[in-house]
Amino acid sequence: MPLLVMKFGGTSVADLERIRNAAQKVRAEVARGYDVIVIVSAMSGKTNELVGWVNETSPLYDAREYDAVVSSGENVTAGLMALTLQEMDVPARSWQGWQVPIQTTSAHGAARFVDIPRANLDAKFAEGFRVAVIAGFQGVSAEGRITTLGRGGSDTTAVAFAAAFGAERCDIYTDVDGIYTTDPRITSKARKLDRISFEEMLELASLGAKVLQTRSVELAMRYKVRLRVLSSFDETDEMSGTLVCDEDEIMESRVVSGVAYSREEAKLTLVTVEDRPGIAAAIFGPLAEAGVNVDMIVQNISEKAQGHDRPVTDMTFSCPVEQVARARKALEAARDTGAIRYDGLEVDEDAAKVSVVGIGMRSHAGVAARMFSALAEEGVNIKVIATSEIKISVLIDRKYMELAVQALHDAFDLDKTG
Ligand code: ADP
Ligand code: ASP
Ligand code: MG
Repeated sequence: MPLLVMKFGGTSVADLERIRNAAQKVRAEVARGYDVIVIVSAMSGKTNELVGWVNETSPLYDAREYDAVVSSGENVTAGLMALTLQEMDVPARSWQGWQVPIQTTSAHGAARFVDIPRANLDAKFAEGFRVAVIAGFQGVSAEGRITTLGRGGSDTTAVAFAAAFGAERCDIYTDVDGIYTTDPRITSKARKLDRISFEEMLELASLGAKVLQTRSVELAMRYKVRLRVLSSFDETDEMSGTLVCDEDEIMESRVVSGVAYSREEAKLTLVTVEDRPGIAAAIFGPLAEAGVNVDMIVQNISEKAQGHDRPVTDMTFSCPVEQVARARKALEAARDTGAIRYDGLEVDEDAAKVSVVGIGMRSHAGVAARMFSALAEEGVNIKVIATSEIKISVLIDRKYMELAVQALHDAFDLDKTG
């Protein structure tokens, strides 16, 4: 039988009524002749609540127990979805990660897939079960402990199953009807895209567009999974939503395809560190070891250089706000051991990152200039800039984030079809 993967996110399974609505979509595909692997998230808000309970119980928690608690939201929805399908006379059963077993690394809270053996599910499909409901976001380590994949990880579970079972398509049902030129919550001018390339989606996701977890796009690109994002609240058919696909399947060509943002960024500056070979490694090595995800980096001339008998420089970098305490601790520890010397650490916790993404940038000059002048016209000051082949990112004051996204959306005419 042909097989589909259908994933339902938190808002799509937020209560029993919505689970019924999702189950009806599954039943419709079964009626069309598909076997279906359904991946479910926890009910919306549930994972946040579980994370809160862990933090309140134990601020420096044991990551294995964090995963034991935080994975549980998906277990509830998997069971409820299987029950709902059974009530509709669709032969279904639920599977927690360890029952499949979904084998992962033991990096608790950020585990990666090692293997998804097909035997158990295949045996059930052979018995006549038409639907396997899988708890998303979780797996089991070689040590036999429950793991989770990082926030938003059910998307990745869905794509991994689609790859492992050779699914015809991987449909991600969510609370928007596709992938837009930017988050439709930020501007009503955001326009739904019919198609987007894997590469662009990968950039948008890693730059903050949480509609798909970055890792899910990576896997889909690697295993050539036909990945589609569509609404669980609308009537849908084969043409609905947005298809994430290879670049050569896209007719529309434009320089910039989308604008992404990441709201909770911090900018840290080490003031007057010595300017010598090896200094960057001495700073960023300990930060990496401490698990700080350093993003943008600039080395600049220090205003306070005078009065130093040796060459000094300022080193600025950005990281998520939640990692500032860890970064500070790692840098202070490195100073205490004498590995680095600096006069001060300036921390700005009110930053946000806004990025424009498009494969057309490879062959078009002037995108950066257009971006910077659009921001200048709105009086938005740029703190740090980073570029790659298909994206330009700027770090700005958080209070201008929405304004910047809207201005860039207008500047690149993203509301108009190309
Ligand atoms: P789910 O719970 O279904 O996994 P998420 O909240 O993780 O849903 O992702 C869907 C949300 O992603 C949307 O509600 C939207 O606000 C946000 N989003 C951010 N950027 C985009 C974009 N470019 N296109 C569509 N949605 C986006
Ligand atoms: N429930 C998890 C989260 O909120 C995983 C997911 O929804 O994809 O992050
Ligand atoms: Mg999500």
